[in-house]
Amino acid sequence: MLNLVSVSRKVEKNEPFSIKNSGLTIIVMIALLACMLSTGISTYFRKIVYRVFQQGALAMLAYQTKDYEKLASNTFILKYTKEDEELASIVLTLAEEYLQEAEKILGLKHASRQIPLVFYRDEESLKRSFGWTGDKSAVGVYWAGSIRLVSPYGWNSRSPQNSAEAREIFAREGPLAHELTHLLVDKVTGGNYPRWLTEGLAQDVEERITGFTLDEPSADRKAKAYSFKKLDKEFDEQPDQYLAYWQSFHAVRQLLARGGKERMGALLRALGKGQEFHRAFAETYGVEFADFAREVFGLASW
Ligand SMILES: [Zn+2]
Repeated sequence: MLNLVSVSRKVEKNEPFSIKNSGLTIIVMIALLACMLSTGISTYFRKIVYRVFQQGALAMLAYQTKDYEKLASNTFILKYTKEDEELASIVLTLAEEYLQEAEKILGLKHASRQIPLVFYRDEESLKRSFGWTGDKSAVGVYWAGSIRLVSPYGWNSRSPQNSAEAREIFAREGPLAHELTHLLVDKVTGGNYPRWLTEGLAQDVEERITGFTLDEPSADRKAKAYSFKKLDKEFDEQPDQYLAYWQSFHAVRQLLARGGKERMGALLRALGKGQEFHRAFAETYGVEFADFAREVFGLASW
């Protein structure tokens, strides 16, 4: 059965936050505009645009969290509030441990340091950091080079009774392994990947590290499978988010069964060189993506 934390975690949102700082607004807007205009231009330029965009977003996050406490490890810089002091070191230790495990599982190496992790006390604070309103809900988000997490004391499902329990719940049910995989995929591909691919890989790694996995949906539900096009550009808009996540997971598992982490790594590296996804897929797996889509979900249109 799916636990409540995971349900809320699965409703991740990838849209950008509302921007209030004018200097950064300009940087981010220029980067976004350039991204929109960049179809067909060189991979080199696209990568520069992508980097500028991430730097803008990271600068914005640093400004938003300038009054937070800070603790660093080899790879991460964790920002947190005083209320979560007792959890800070375990979050950093787990982040180092899970990143290493995720790298081993995927056969990828992430070299950069100083990855920002922000630990918010509650969901409201995380939502405010993106300017989200309404009932959007998440306890972990990877976005533009940083990972944002909600303290287990702020999860809607249940509140830990003491710090030992909080640490245990966070290690077992927290979104860290999932979000770290998004980070790895993003770094290796330079942002050039379909959404379902990163969601599927994140769930695969998460299952291998924490044991958490989604149950297979009923046949009725599976008959309403979304097209891969929808699972890429309109992932968050699909009404059955459970199905969208499960399909992503299932598709990735099929690919791993065919070519293991070696081919998956080759696909991600080809994307990192700026190759168009369908071409990179056909070259890596020796089959057209449309045929794979038909085979895996019986999709008439993909
Ligand atoms: Zn995710």
